[in-house]
Amino acid sequence: MHLDIIGAGPAYSDREGATGAAYLVRFGETAVCLDLGHGAFARLARTIEPSRLAAVLVSHLHPDHFIDLVALRHYLRWEFKPSRRVRVIGPRSLDARLDALHADPGFSAHALDVEALAAGTIAIGTLRVETARIRHTADSYGFRVAPGAKGAEGADVRDHDRGIAAGPGLVYSGDCGRAEDLDPLIRPGDTLLSEVSFGPGPVVPGAEHLDGPTVGRLAARTGAARVLLTHLQMGYDAHATIDSVRTHFDGPVQLVTPGDAFAIA
Ligand SMILES: [Zn+2]
Ligand SMILES: [Zn+2]
Repeated sequence: MHLDIIGAGPAYSDREGATGAAYLVRFGETAVCLDLGHGAFARLARTIEPSRLAAVLVSHLHPDHFIDLVALRHYLRWEFKPSRRVRVIGPRSLDARLDALHADPGFSAHALDVEALAAGTIAIGTLRVETARIRHTADSYGFRVAPGAKGAEGADVRDHDRGIAAGPGLVYSGDCGRAEDLDPLIRPGDTLLSEVSFGPGPVVPGAEHLDGPTVGRLAARTGAARVLLTHLQMGYDAHATIDSVRTHFDGPVQLVTPGDAFAIA
């Protein structure tokens, strides 16, 4: 399983290239994109032909996590005749938000097959995605992505033959106001891709986000193999942020940037 960092920014930043959240996960023939925030479409399109995506999963309805679905929709609608379609799984009313932006009730439906997200498990090609409700907005989710019951070669394989329960998988926090909400998703050996909006901390009271010490404690108690940090707000120092995670977690820690690529499994 391979992870490409397409966009790793927060809602706004003075850091050049800090586009909105977008993380491409590929295993065998299946590719999914976790979030598609502002400015992320161009790098996505340089990395994979976007109409080949099996799905886009949207963690919550903040524009830094979903607004480049507009660019994806236009691409699918106007680059191909007939237009192509991509499955989009996100919080309820995602399609209505996109439609309202264009004052066009059919805007999303022209090219996006939008499905409502719920806590549970979704099979997408060779991947299996587990979802969990996360405190942030009223309808926010975290994801665990791992090789699924169907192998890369297309043969049906029972879960225990592939060691699904033990990992390794990729857990993505989305935006998160309570780290404990992620505990049920993380298996020992997983890679934790976590937001760290408030750097070394502390989190400003009332902000539903995480800081480094909180992420470090989360990784340590769940047995994560490594931590990839993202969504760092402007004004926070990267090294101090990484050090604040390392205070609580012994494994590898790094702050990701667009263009980074990782082998997960
Ligand atoms: Zn965000
Ligand atoms: Zn958010």
